[in-house]
Amino acid sequence: MGELDSDPGKSSLPLEEIELLLSTDGKESLQWLDQTPTFLFFSANWCRPCKNFTSVLADMYKTLKSTDREFQVIFVSLDRDETSFREYSRCMPWLVLPFDLPTSTRLCERYNVSHIPSLILWSSDCNVVEEDVVRFVDDYGIGAFPFTRKRREQLMAMDEALRLGGSLQALLGTAERDYVISGDGMKIPISHLAGKTIGLYFGGYWSPPCRNFTHQLVDVYEELSVSEPGKFQVIFVSSDSNQGEFDQNISSLPWPSIPYKDKTLKNLSRIFLVNRIPAVVLIGPDGKTLNTNGRDLITSYGAKAFPFTETRITELEGLLEKEREGLPQQVSDPKHQHELKLDRAMAYVCDGCTRPGRFWVFSCNNCNFDLHPQCVQGSS
Ligand SMILES: [Zn+2]
Ligand SMILES: [Zn+2]
Repeated sequence: MGELDSDPGKSSLPLEEIELLLSTDGKESLQWLDQTPTFLFFSANWCRPCKNFTSVLADMYKTLKSTDREFQVIFVSLDRDETSFREYSRCMPWLVLPFDLPTSTRLCERYNVSHIPSLILWSSDCNVVEEDVVRFVDDYGIGAFPFTRKRREQLMAMDEALRLGGSLQALLGTAERDYVISGDGMKIPISHLAGKTIGLYFGGYWSPPCRNFTHQLVDVYEELSVSEPGKFQVIFVSSDSNQGEFDQNISSLPWPSIPYKDKTLKNLSRIFLVNRIPAVVLIGPDGKTLNTNGRDLITSYGAKAFPFTETRITELEGLLEKEREGLPQQVSDPKHQHELKLDRAMAYVCDGCTRPGRFWVFSCNNCNFDLHPQCVQGSS
């Protein structure tokens, strides 16, 4: 978002002045303003988020106008010069306030605009009656129309219903698509996922933390496909940068994906409030959300966390505590010159058998030396 300098010295702009500015011949009365929901679009050519948002809004505007929806947008330019303003206005299908920076600045103050892009409902008394709807439009696209608080509440309630669960088709599919795709392009019906524990994996190949986490998740997935066959299914929710990257990424993954650029991807991030990747949202066999922090469960407990319920985690912690009670606090081992202390680790490689370990470890405080408790041959 572009931050704006505030300038409290300016007085507010009278309604008549805006009406005069808006009317094409300087005289035309803008009676329609009172009848048609009208949004002031504060934006500037120099602001990259503005330009991205403008193209989204322009598509939406044309679609809504083609179905005779009543609403209007007026561009309030915060461009630095008239040339940039003219160039920018050309890509806008709505009304444009003539270039006049002092007026735009006064409007910003009147509507408490502190960053752009900003899309604010016009009111005849210049009071803010609805919040800035840029984020709302970003989140819900054309579904946000008519951009009112009531509509926002409806959509949030719909998200909540999806989060609470029930229907995988409603969550993962669309009206046109009732399948997810495998790495080799096969369509897997969403109905085949019913009754399984689902891990929605939000990731992207461009992200090094995601690439690291993918390895951990593949291990857990493969372990569970042997120990709990058919009970756990990961679905990839891609943030890959382009189709080529996505195709390459999923061809190496053992689980299916939501198709690239599908609108469901954005919806899922919004519904589960995912704002960083990698993330894993776990959904139980009943379709209800089990845990939105599946990444930590996978990292901390691996496949042992299955079926990822609170009961299982409590049980697991109890077992680990019991195991700890049966172990000495420190040991000596002929394989290493220093004392080794009992510690808890998410993941390590044992210097005795060179195999990976998790949970309890005997490790040296000075050196990078770790042993599985069962690989200790010394005395306590
Ligand atoms: Zn070992
Ligand atoms: Zn040491």
